[in-house]
Parts: sequence; structure tokens; C-alpha cells
Amino acid sequence: MQSSKFSILTLKKPLLDNLTTLGYSEMTEIQSQSLPSILKGKDVIGQGKTGSGKTAAFGLGLLNKLDVKKFRVQSLVLCPTRELADQVAKELRKLARAIHNIKILTLCGGMPVGPQIGSLEHGAHIIVGTPGRIEDHLQKGRLNLMNLNMLVLDEADRMLEMGFQNSLDAIVGQCPDDRQTLLFSATFPDKIKAISSKILKQPEHVKVTSVH
Ligand code: ADP
Ligand code: MG
Repeated sequence: MQSSKFSILTLKKPLLDNLTTLGYSEMTEIQSQSLPSILKGKDVIGQGKTGSGKTAAFGLGLLNKLDVKKFRVQSLVLCPTRELADQVAKELRKLARAIHNIKILTLCGGMPVGPQIGSLEHGAHIIVGTPGRIEDHLQKGRLNLMNLNMLVLDEADRMLEMGFQNSLDAIVGQCPDDRQTLLFSATFPDKIKAISSKILKQPEHVKVTSVH
């Protein structure tokens, strides 16, 4: 059997050491199948059930790329709901514990806009949010994605079910063309195929059925 230890990956040492501290000893299947390609900079479609560890798959990918000294938005993670965005931000903060001064900001609908404007003025490295509110901040010129190097669509099937297609198109239109894009989805209906071929470049498709 192939080794599925995180240490076989080209992860920066502080991230690797922190995984040991967190008690993440082995990669889950979706992680071991997607992380090598993600860390090479490829676009990846990851299909796997709830609980399979998708957050750390894309989270380690974006954190490994991040330059904390450059205080610009470098990664954007889009989620269907505030609850999911909060969960993702929590897991990212855990994975990023070894990176000092990292700023992860959540921007979700259903929350007052005023404090978000203030937070955006202070800046962030990573933004996690729901498509409608992110689109709104972009349209109003409060958010700039010029330095983005990683775009993640988490639970893409649910985002489309919730009617976020137009917001997604608007957001993707403001992302640099040379970014890396990762798309995670539990299911892979035609609508997801269509959006994937539109926004990902020669993606690798990883599909796992196990949650371990
Ligand atoms: P998904 O997004 O696929 O539903 P999550 O990313 O939320 O799954 O992960 C599910 C749980 O598994 C989380 O509590 C996370 O902290 C934990 N987890 C993820 N990867 C590992 C790992 N390699 N070792 C141990 N726990 C892990
Ligand atoms: Mg998830």
C-alpha cells in the first residue's frame, strides 16, 4: 500500500509540523489523491462525501502557496452558506496556526455589511465567503482580487442549487486568468461539468468514495 503520510508531500515545514501537533498523522483518501496535483499547481476537481477531509485538501494547497509577507488577498474560498464558510474558516485557522500574522476573513450574506467594510479596509490574506456577498463587495470596489493565486469553490453543487450561478460568473470574471482553481462537490451533475469546463484549466478529476 502507498504511504499516505503528509510528510511525502512538498509542504512547508511549519505546516507539516502543525499537522503533527493537530494529530493529523495520515492523509485521508481525498487528500492523498488530490494534494500532489494541488501542490504542483494544477486545477483539480475533487469529488467526495461529507467528512472526507476536503477542507484540508484545499486548505493545505492554498496555505502552502501563501506569502504572508504580502498583505493582499491571495486566496478566495466560496461556500454555499454562512455555516459552511464559518466551518471552513475555523479549519483553515487551525491548519494555519504555524503561520504568524495570517489574516483570514469571512464575508457572508445575512451579516451586517458595515463591519465587513471595516475589516476589508484592514486587509486579509484569505477570504472565505458566500457568493452573493462577495459579488456585492467586488461590485462596490471594496474587494480587489488582482493578487489572487487560488480560487476554491467548495460544495459547488450546493452553490448552484442555491442559485449562485450568476454571482459565481461575476466573481470568476474578476479573478486573474493565471490563478489556480479547485472545485469540490459531493455530486457531479451536468451543471457542475459545465461550470468546471468554463472556469478550470485541464483539471484533474479526483473521485473518492471512502471518507477515510
Ligand atoms: P468535508 O469537507 O470533506 O466534509 P472536512 O474537511 O470538514 O470534510 O473534514 C472532516 C473532519 O475531519 C474535520 O473535523 C477535520 O478536522 C478532520 N480531518 C481532516 N483531515 C484529517 C486527517 N488527515 N487526519 C485527521 N483528521 C482529519
Ligand atoms: Mg466541506
